[in-house]
Amino acid sequence: MSISRPLQPIREDDATLAKVLADAHLPSLLAALAYVTADLALLRPELKPNTFFLAGEQGGYTPEQQSEARALCLAALARYRDAGCPKPAASEATLRSVLEFVIGPDALDAYLPLLQEELSIAGRDLRAPDWTKPGVAPNADFRVAIIGAGMSGLLAAVRLGQAGVPYVILEKNVEVGGTWYENTYPGCRVDVANHFYSYSFAQKEDWPQRFSPQGVLLDYFRDCAEEFGVKPHVRFQHEVLAAEFDEARGTWRLRVRTPSGEETLEANALISAVGQLNQPKLPELPGMARFRGPAFHSARWDHSVPLTGKRVAVIGTGASAAQFVPVIANEVAELTVLQRTPNWMFPVAEYHDDVPAGLAWLFRRVPHYAHFFRFWLFWTTGDGSLLPRVEVDPAWPHPERAVSAGNDELRALATAAFELQLADRPDLLPKVVPPYPPASKRILFDNGAWLAALKRPNVRLVTEPIREITERGVVTADGAEHAADVIVYATGFQASRFLTPMRITGRGGVDLHQRWDGNARAYLGITVPDFPNLFLLYGPNTNIVVNGSIVYFSECEVRYVLGCLRLLLAGRHRTLDVRPEVHDAYNRRIDSGNSRMAWGAPSAAHVNSWYKSPSGRVAQNWPFTLLEYWRQTKEPRPGDYVFA
Ligand code: NAP
Repeated sequence: MSISRPLQPIREDDATLAKVLADAHLPSLLAALAYVTADLALLRPELKPNTFFLAGEQGGYTPEQQSEARALCLAALARYRDAGCPKPAASEATLRSVLEFVIGPDALDAYLPLLQEELSIAGRDLRAPDWTKPGVAPNADFRVAIIGAGMSGLLAAVRLGQAGVPYVILEKNVEVGGTWYENTYPGCRVDVANHFYSYSFAQKEDWPQRFSPQGVLLDYFRDCAEEFGVKPHVRFQHEVLAAEFDEARGTWRLRVRTPSGEETLEANALISAVGQLNQPKLPELPGMARFRGPAFHSARWDHSVPLTGKRVAVIGTGASAAQFVPVIANEVAELTVLQRTPNWMFPVAEYHDDVPAGLAWLFRRVPHYAHFFRFWLFWTTGDGSLLPRVEVDPAWPHPERAVSAGNDELRALATAAFELQLADRPDLLPKVVPPYPPASKRILFDNGAWLAALKRPNVRLVTEPIREITERGVVTADGAEHAADVIVYATGFQASRFLTPMRITGRGGVDLHQRWDGNARAYLGITVPDFPNLFLLYGPNTNIVVNGSIVYFSECEVRYVLGCLRLLLAGRHRTLDVRPEVHDAYNRRIDSGNSRMAWGAPSAAHVNSWYKSPSGRVAQNWPFTLLEYWRQTKEPRPGDYVFA
């Protein structure tokens, strides 16, 4: 089994090439062919793509530009084929020119090293540790425990394995995959394109869909666990209940629930990889226990409950509901969708599409095409596109509807997409168009499935607040009873309660949750004062809103953690503990950054979102660029820590 497969040579005639080019993503194919053939003339100035995410397909190319680009690609592909598909001898200078074509000269120097890592374009895993424990501390008795075998935990395991650091993963489930194992609701899929939502060192050029369904992602993470030798290190059905720092020994002692009772386990360092969206949140609605039919949370979908022909009430309209409502709407008799807050939705026509055959064909034959496609996604869904449009412009005169002119442009584009779809149902428009600025809460992707579902005759969108749950269904504030046989709570997760329900006790007996008091903070989202050798992955303020993939963040975090372990081992230290003043200054900067973003600005104060703690502080989101996080986490600064 291999995640990435060897490329195939091109032997097909020009007519076949012309046919597959109909499916090509042109800006990234031009980039790949220019890189592979070192023919920079392919990068014509008039074909410079527009990197705004909503600029339209093909980097906003007009039909004429598309024809020109296809003709150039056809000629280049034919030349490459006729030369015998030689191995590319691309240089860094060529890479610079190709990247500059997309991101422009100003950003190039800053982003080049990051992109070389992120794309793994040289065929080398540049984020792998460049040290090993046998090399720096062969005799140290040192062992790491990782909590969770989801995306981040597996990643930490891969890196520890590469560094030769002994580790164990404690996983509460019977399988790896984390969120992609637990969420099995109908229609569950990722909404970050998969050529980007994947490890930089385990890229797949043959994703079947652009945005993979849950099962495909679960297979990917399973495959990674196998291919990188992680599986034997995972102890399944091992749930960490508590972790306590032993000051005398400088180690963490873990209390673990296993099928054969509780166990304790000692580790020198502890990595929490439990995610932010792990613990389902049920609402506190009067009468919930009275309901006499089946009721379950979307993340604990009860597949034993048949929905066909039933009256179903769905409470919540976030990312999960937006995916399963269109699927179950087809099979249920009646569907009542209870919405508290509408969501901004960006039109993404290809959201449910398979990778077209021609594009898949090209990915398997053109060297680095999948890399450059990843690069395109990285840039247009990352720092190169939306971030500036969600930053507050204090001089903008209409803060009630947008935070800046660019943000207002997002609002106009998304509103136009709603209007277009609801030309035949204008009554729905005031219910689905959000009153708040885009990115005050999570933006969803949609290919039309959501509104198509709401328009069905068997579906009703209810926006009256919920008063109570009765034996028979849901009663809203206007006194209407919405009868239901089944209730699905799509009410999200306890995102601000990081690391719950585990009890974590640090130096001097301090309890992590008491310390946080509902306001989780960490340095770089990773380390917390008085919790030596505890490292958090996807911790506080490491979620991204409109830029990037969380896999990217985890890769930055894990490299940083490995850097910390190297400092410990090479320096013959037992522990490192982040200096409180470093942690506090960092968090002041984060808070100030978030206050200037749509989700943390005063205009978002009254918008419900899981981006905020109950106190109103944004404890989840990173407010800066991907580049900034990469810079800050590239390697730990010893001066930030106290070593013992
Ligand atoms: P969510 O976005 O937090 O949505 C929860 C929904 O339940 C919201 O509509 C919320 O209304 C509503 N709600 C909560 N409590 C309620 C109450 N007491 N009464 C009425 N309504 C209530 O949760 P989610 O949809 O599970 O998604 C969570 C996150 O998981 C996403 O934002 C995303 O990051 C991740 N996710 C990703 C994907 C993907 O990649 N495609 C898919 C699913 C989930 P308010 O809006 O008013 O709070």
